[in-house]
Amino acid sequence: MKRNFLKALFGGVVATVLIGIAPLVQAQDKGLVAISMPTKSSARWIADGNNMVKYFQERGYKTDLQYADDDIPNQLAQVENLLTKGAKVLVIAAIDGTTLSDVLQKAADKGVKVIAYDRLIKGSKNVDYYATFDNYQVGVLQASYIEQALKLKEGKGPYNIELFGGSPDDNNAFFFYDGAMSVLKPYIDSGKLVVRSKQMGMDKVSTLRWDGAVAQARMDNLLSAYYTKDHVDAVLSPYDGLSIGIISSLKGVGYGTPQQPMPVVTGQDAEVPSVKSILKKEQTQTVFKDTRELAKVTVDMVDAMMSGKTPTVNDTKTYNNGVKVVPSYLLKPVSVDASNWKKTLVDSGYYKESQIQ
Ligand code: BGC
Repeated sequence: MKRNFLKALFGGVVATVLIGIAPLVQAQDKGLVAISMPTKSSARWIADGNNMVKYFQERGYKTDLQYADDDIPNQLAQVENLLTKGAKVLVIAAIDGTTLSDVLQKAADKGVKVIAYDRLIKGSKNVDYYATFDNYQVGVLQASYIEQALKLKEGKGPYNIELFGGSPDDNNAFFFYDGAMSVLKPYIDSGKLVVRSKQMGMDKVSTLRWDGAVAQARMDNLLSAYYTKDHVDAVLSPYDGLSIGIISSLKGVGYGTPQQPMPVVTGQDAEVPSVKSILKKEQTQTVFKDTRELAKVTVDMVDAMMSGKTPTVNDTKTYNNGVKVVPSYLLKPVSVDASNWKKTLVDSGYYKESQIQ
């Protein structure tokens, strides 16, 4: 009798425990999210990937994170493979935004949702949402920094400037350039800024695959062809990895002394080597884009879609991918220099101070 009572009680406890566990088990199994990132050669993409894995797992998703080594066929093969693994959602930061149409059609046929991450995916109707930063504003921030540093608004000048653009297969590169030129062009037109090389427009200033070595080689050529007698006062650089290459080139011909001071050099991503370079007064500025926020926005979008809700967006006009306007969420980029790096990057917990100095 007593034994039966205990058995019943024990059985009840086990049942209760099991019932208690069941929802947890379900919460842990919301399906597989495939994350395809372009490259590990830049720290920001590593942070993007890690942040997303963390937040997706916290929400009960499984993740498969892959990096494509900046190789287009590699990224295509990885995405195909992720589809066969049964992913329910693809989150893709494309290397070349125009090359994914076929694989995305396969995804759509399987009912798989697609988020363009940071970079717009072009030429496909099968892109559900786009999570990014205000890319035009990134260029505005870089150029406004140059405008302020050279006191152009106050009528100072003329100054010499050279322009660099990002990778021509990345839609963002055009937004960065156009945003920057919206500020710089009036000064170029009025002669207060002079592009001695006359190299202007993305067809002339772009940097394939955002490669710092390519930017360095182009800067070497510009310096030897146009600046043996003149001083370059500003360099518009859209990304820290390019800025570091450009600065090496400048140092190579003696810039960085009181007689031959460094030009104003902009950047983007607030990568550690560039923040250090800013503290050494080599690079002047960068643009911080908090990858934790971008990861959160993306996870929220996916979670909403997977629970039959409509994801929150704040832009339904800007990002036409050639087939449709992709509903987007744009985050705010922040300009960083020697005066606010600590507040922006350390106080926010993005970096530890010991990583920088
Ligand atoms: C990103 C930038 C980054 C660049 C190079 C762009 O698509 O928006 O943050 O600097 O790629 O990786």
